[in-house]
Amino acid sequence: MQFEIIPVTPFEQNCTLLICPTTQDAAIVDPGGEPERIRAALNRLSAKPRMILLTHGHLDHVGAAPELAAQLELPIIGPHRDDAFWLDALPQQAQMFGFPPQTAFRPDQWLEQGAQLQLGERRLEVLHCPGHTPGHLVFVDRDAGLAQVGDVLFRGAIGRTDFPRGNHAQLLRSIQERLFPLGDEVRFIPGHGPMGRLGEERRTNPFVGEGRVR
Ligand SMILES: [Zn+2]
Ligand SMILES: [Zn+2]
Repeated sequence: MQFEIIPVTPFEQNCTLLICPTTQDAAIVDPGGEPERIRAALNRLSAKPRMILLTHGHLDHVGAAPELAAQLELPIIGPHRDDAFWLDALPQQAQMFGFPPQTAFRPDQWLEQGAQLQLGERRLEVLHCPGHTPGHLVFVDRDAGLAQVGDVLFRGAIGRTDFPRGNHAQLLRSIQERLFPLGDEVRFIPGHGPMGRLGEERRTNPFVGEGRVR
């Protein structure tokens, strides 16, 4: 799987283009803002956008989804329906974070644990990884050993759980029972900051790794 990371919004959120290298079919994961930069990257890479995928309902991950969906005639797919309340609260999120006004929206399709998505000749598997938000999803290309993990896991850190319906114990379970079993060699793209490898986090992450303070 080819990929391109475009940090958007003042939160430097990693909007990610996942592109089938054979067909150039592309998924836009978490277009949080700056739709013109995302469209420019699609053009530069000669990618054919087919869908917008959302990991969770936080504004910096979804802010440009409705505009891009309308401009490019794409379906919005995900997150899990347990994040509906976050999407409903987009106007308040915009106010809280000082973003331009944002209207609430619903995706064309919610996704469940274990769902499969076809992108050109590549297959994406959907993992439900609640904790940061209750409806948070992770998108995995097992053949490529690549996962887009949103705000579940970062290099040397984990997602915040101090938001409404955040759950720290649940987040640790999501990482330990859904992410780490994917394999040490799997590379992950987090919602913010640099890419990492699951094995390194399994060994050294101070919050969820083997050496964490209990
Ligand atoms: Zn978030
Ligand atoms: Zn985020």
